[in-house]
Amino acid sequence: MGLFDFLKKNTEQNEQRLQAGLEKTKTSLWGRVARVFTGKSTLDDEMLDELESALLQSDVGVGTTVKIIKRMRARAARDKFTSTEELNTLLHDEVVQVMTENHGTRGLASVNIEAPTHAGKPVPYVLMVVGVNGVGKTTTIGKLAHQFRQAGYKVLLGAADTFRAAAVEQLRIWSERTGSLFVEKGMGADPSSVAFDAVKQGIDQGVDVVILDTAGRLHNKAHLMDELSKIRRTMGKLLPEAPHEVLLVLDASTGQNAFAQATEFTRATQVTSLALTKLDGTAKGGVVIGISDQFQIPVKYIGVGEAMEDLQLFDAVKFVKGIF
Ligand code: GDP
Ligand code: MG
Repeated sequence: MGLFDFLKKNTEQNEQRLQAGLEKTKTSLWGRVARVFTGKSTLDDEMLDELESALLQSDVGVGTTVKIIKRMRARAARDKFTSTEELNTLLHDEVVQVMTENHGTRGLASVNIEAPTHAGKPVPYVLMVVGVNGVGKTTTIGKLAHQFRQAGYKVLLGAADTFRAAAVEQLRIWSERTGSLFVEKGMGADPSSVAFDAVKQGIDQGVDVVILDTAGRLHNKAHLMDELSKIRRTMGKLLPEAPHEVLLVLDASTGQNAFAQATEFTRATQVTSLALTKLDGTAKGGVVIGISDQFQIPVKYIGVGEAMEDLQLFDAVKFVKGIF
């Protein structure tokens, strides 16, 4: 069984949490789209222009909006539409297509990762979490730890965000709440030495998943790049494949700012997956569409609330159903 298979559980409760979490985006985005489509059965240029502004106003981003409109225009020229419903279906299809063609609906190989090994021995899956302060890294780690623990895995959290004392404490609380092991060296410690100890203990204690919290100080890109590279190098001494995953956390409610952060971080280090948080508090959920399209990195998780269950494996089809 893959390490992440348990996250695919498809409960009705998860479905409801997703729907509730996407409510604000749905009200705003679908409200705008419905105004364009209602009562219409064909697609003309004027409608496409209106749809274009609706998508732009919903933080989908220019590049992706243009792509969606262009494809719908081509479809309108080719196919005949006879109902509002057909137009809705067309929009759904094109949006899902744009979101997934770079990496599939679930997209990510590591979703299906088998428990990793090194030299024939089982080793911890090392997940490094990056992103700027306040986007929801530590909370996302806590939610993930909870879900891994529920699935019966042994988890270790490493406090490599050593920039603020509160950051270490916050992670400690999550480790206690979720019954995870915890490695810290206090505020001001060298993040890479925390990472080393976390991976070492993870190996020694037969941990399944090591999750590393980091500080993302974007004001100095060279520094960020150095720090993240050093963490990687140090862990690599113990486990050359580590980190198996680098998860970039972005706050969806910051809209276009999330794009800018994704651009910066993907330049600073090799990011392998994305999490978009705080979708529940924002009407800017359209940003997920743009980010899925513009970066060759799959959105793996979305945060749709503050409860531990409110972190879900991302599914483009369900997401699009949830917002239109
Ligand atoms: P960090 O600085 O990146 O580690 O961010 P934190 O994990 O400390 O989170 C900052 C704030 O965002 C906290 O108040 C979290 O409760 C909140 N938060 C994180 N994820 C979500 C989410 O999906 N929904 C909501 N509503 N709040 C969230
Ligand atoms: Mg934090």
